[in-house]
Amino acid sequence: MAKQKNVLVSDALRVEPRTTVRVEDFDAEGTPGYPGEGKDDAIEQTQTMAEELSDLQERLYAEGRDNPGARRVLLLLQGLDTSGKGGVIRHSVGLVDPQGIQLKAFKAPTAEERKHHYLWRIKNALPGPGMIGIFDRSHYEDVLVVRVENLVPQSEWSKRFDEINKFEAELTEQGTTLIKCFLNVSHDEQKQRLLERLDNPEKHWKYNPGDVDTRLKWPAYLEAYADVLTRCSTEHAPWFVVPANRKWYRNWAVTRLLLEHLRALDPHWPAADFDVAVERKRVEES
Ligand code: AMP
Ligand code: MG
Repeated sequence: MAKQKNVLVSDALRVEPRTTVRVEDFDAEGTPGYPGEGKDDAIEQTQTMAEELSDLQERLYAEGRDNPGARRVLLLLQGLDTSGKGGVIRHSVGLVDPQGIQLKAFKAPTAEERKHHYLWRIKNALPGPGMIGIFDRSHYEDVLVVRVENLVPQSEWSKRFDEINKFEAELTEQGTTLIKCFLNVSHDEQKQRLLERLDNPEKHWKYNPGDVDTRLKWPAYLEAYADVLTRCSTEHAPWFVVPANRKWYRNWAVTRLLLEHLRALDPHWPAADFDVAVERKRVEES
């Protein structure tokens, strides 16, 4: 088979705006845009990307120093239990300097958070200038779990798609690049991963009996995810569906998405706001 060369993973995984999609139409086993031969290649390639990714991230961070209007990136991770949000954070996000990362995991809202609009806690966690924000779950839970579990009436959650699109449009206008990833794990693979958690005492801490109740509502979640992908994949903030059955591909693909978006931003080292020659002389003479 001919190798796929120079395919942008962003193009291979993007959900085209204004297209109706079903989650079942995406292959969780797939490796779209992957140019190598398999797992060993992917781990090597991910390491190769690390260097460029680190350099770009440091430039972005440097741009953000003393510049409140500087650009930022927000990598948003959604997916059902065991889809590997944590794995992506460890293996892909873990490739860059933690000083430039702002990580936030969203759990069921606290009593304090429930007093506010659902976007309140999201707005409070947005990345600062030059930072790469990581959302482990996000405002999309407010049209996913909230919908499936009937936590608010349909009349309320159904208005949120447009509201989210508007919110994200504002974010991008203000200089945030959003990378929204749906980690797509299959029903069978989730079962295997839950069983692994049970069979390995070192993974018991990851197991939550409630995950089985969620699993039993699989069709309802797929329907909710389909609406998210259909209604909230926009030109300014598209969704990427990342096949997640193969962990090596998932990590490679998210690293690649980060790299492609940072390359497009093309951050530059800020020019010195002091006279270099004068400062050099001062240091020498000190
Ligand atoms: P985990 O990511 O496994 O630590 O689980 C976090 C839990 O928080 C999941 O069960 C989510 O469904 C839940 N959660 C996150 N955001 C919300 C929300 N806005 N409303 C209700 N539950 C939420
Ligand atoms: Mg969990």
